[in-house]
Amino acid sequence: MSPVLFWDIDGTLLATGGAGMFAWNDAVKEHTGRDFDLKTAIRSAGFTDYQIGVRTFEVLGIPASSADVDRLVRRYEELLPASLFRKDGVVLPNVRAILERLRDDRPDVRSYLLTGNTAAGARAKLTHYGLWELLSRGAFCVDATARAGIAARALALARDEGPVPDGMAIVIGDTPHDIECANAVGARTLAVATGGYDLDELTSHRPWHGCAELPAPDDFLALISTAHAAGEPARRE
Ligand SMILES: [Mg+2]
Repeated sequence: MSPVLFWDIDGTLLATGGAGMFAWNDAVKEHTGRDFDLKTAIRSAGFTDYQIGVRTFEVLGIPASSADVDRLVRRYEELLPASLFRKDGVVLPNVRAILERLRDDRPDVRSYLLTGNTAAGARAKLTHYGLWELLSRGAFCVDATARAGIAARALALARDEGPVPDGMAIVIGDTPHDIECANAVGARTLAVATGGYDLDELTSHRPWHGCAELPAPDDFLALISTAHAAGEPARRE
């Protein structure tokens, strides 16, 4: 049996250098007429796009309906592709090599996105950094409800397409929110400290495994092979 991987985007696959914040701040300015600086206003790592929307209106002290949040998020999506050129972001260490290795050698290990980005936001970021052709399917943010709902949809999609043995669903993410949402659906978390949280902070939330950055493909494959299905005898490692 093979593990099934669920990938977070920001701080896990790539770092935009904060470029997305330009799009957000500009969308807020257009929508409310107010200056806004997402970076200082909200510790947004691990928040979904809609949760950032709700919190933005709260911080500004502006009552907002879900339609207001919707409009703000839609405008952010429109502004995002151009804003990604405003900073030198990166694909994080070993990500491309791992995804290419999985594509070429391990089609049995399925990968899905599990992200707090909306579908359009995810597509803009992954296209900009040349990862969309390697990873494009999964579950995205569609409203302001908890991230665990996105995890449940990602898992349901994976189960529609093949077996997801208990104990072999692995969420790969960079924040305690990823660990929490993995726990909520009974998945393991591979926590990676390439985003907004350091390794000590992440390991205090007891992920299945924590690492400073994703290991090279051989080591990555060795690591995920230690995730056993529930009830399967432990292998010698
Ligand atoms: Mg993240």
